[in-house]
Amino acid sequence: MTEKKLITSDGGPVIIDATTMTEKESALIALAERKSNPPEQIDNSSLYAGSPMFFYCKICEGTIVLPESFTCAVPKLCVECNFLKEMGWLD
Ligand SMILES: [Zn+2]
Repeated sequence: MTEKKLITSDGGPVIIDATTMTEKESALIALAERKSNPPEQIDNSSLYAGSPMFFYCKICEGTIVLPESFTCAVPKLCVECNFLKEMGWLD
């Protein structure tokens, strides 16, 4: 059974054969899809007290949500992009 997947690339939608895709390829495709469809950015100062804080991934602009009381440093990358970086898959 082959699995076809429709992806959005810079050149427009492309149908690819997902059955032969490696984890790296599918992760990079997911990244391209996140980049092509960034979420609307939220201004934290417009939120009521106690709201979670919204930050944005430096690579894909994906949303990173932290509780208002977060004590760690704000991550620069979302979970998916951090994974790509850890794996050395980013250019
Ligand atoms: Zn990201």
